[in-house]
Amino acid sequence: MSNTTFEQIGKVLREHQHFAILGHVRPDGDALGSQLALALSLEQLGKDVRVWNEDGMLEKYSFLPRAELLTKPSATPAPVDVAIALDTAIQNRLGTALAAVGSATIWINIDHHLSNPGYGDLVIVDVSAPATGEIIFNLIKSQGLPFNHDIAENLYAAISTDTGSFQYPKTNARTFAIAEELVRAGGLDVGKISQQLYENYPRRRLEVLRELLRTMRFTADDRVASFSLSLKTAADLGVFPEDNEGLIDHLRAVRGVIVAVFFEELAEGKVRVSMRSKDETVDVCAICQKLGGGGHTLAAGARIRGGLAEVEEKVLEEVLEALKRGS
Ligand code: AMP
Ligand code: MN
Ligand code: MN
Repeated sequence: MSNTTFEQIGKVLREHQHFAILGHVRPDGDALGSQLALALSLEQLGKDVRVWNEDGMLEKYSFLPRAELLTKPSATPAPVDVAIALDTAIQNRLGTALAAVGSATIWINIDHHLSNPGYGDLVIVDVSAPATGEIIFNLIKSQGLPFNHDIAENLYAAISTDTGSFQYPKTNARTFAIAEELVRAGGLDVGKISQQLYENYPRRRLEVLRELLRTMRFTADDRVASFSLSLKTAADLGVFPEDNEGLIDHLRAVRGVIVAVFFEELAEGKVRVSMRSKDETVDVCAICQKLGGGGHTLAAGARIRGGLAEVEEKVLEEVLEALKRGS
């Protein structure tokens, strides 16, 4: 889908002064790490850079180098020359960060989601990339943009988290080659970063998992596993939105399970649905697109209007249909 070259983007980055770098709501390590890495490189070029995410910096990722650069968007729209959306499948997933960009001469869209329609003036959507961080690395290297330890650590965190610690199927030799360069040239301490990423969760996360497991269901001859989080349970436990990132992997990890689904009741009368597949013929992106969302073939999501039970039934039915068509 990319009709833009890294050279074209490199030229725009050098020729303009005021930038806004944006990422999707409910950010993950790939969105936040990619945003910070590109911002730090532009900062080294002497550019004026705002780094905005609707949710601001998450506590979980606040160890990332220069994390303080990433803030919630300003309440009043600010004019910038260039707005850059990273890791964001559809423009409205920028949330309030979208409205905060008052005017931008050029919109750049850099992403790896299959469902990205290619919004913006300059578009690089590389669905073969396991993380947006990998595309940012390629951009920085190919264009000779500034690179240093802090940029390397942000990119490493982006790639490590979006590949499930170098495990998911899009992880390939190139991913390891990039990781090697990040570790070597950036002088990274892998053990320390991994500990901050994977061994520094609040106790609450496990308490959420305990409640989720109580709701666990297996359907479609145990090929579909799901669990759900009600608003009440979330309130009782004082859950932070980021607490449940990755918990769905427990469902996918079960032998025989092809599709894992996590339902999270949201305050605005909607349910956030997270879906994972471990079979390429069961495309959860297609299922989620049908439900108004999007993502990747093996990891996708949607926000659906309705109550928890009602959405669960509707979604599990769609999954069952997809299973019948697929494997
Ligand atoms: P999650 O289950 O939230 O980790 O999301 C899995 C993948 O699907 C991520 O790459 C998201 O960016 C994408 N995704 C999640 N929710 C949506 C949505 N409502 N619309 C489009 N893409 C989504
Ligand atoms: Mn993401
Ligand atoms: Mn990503």
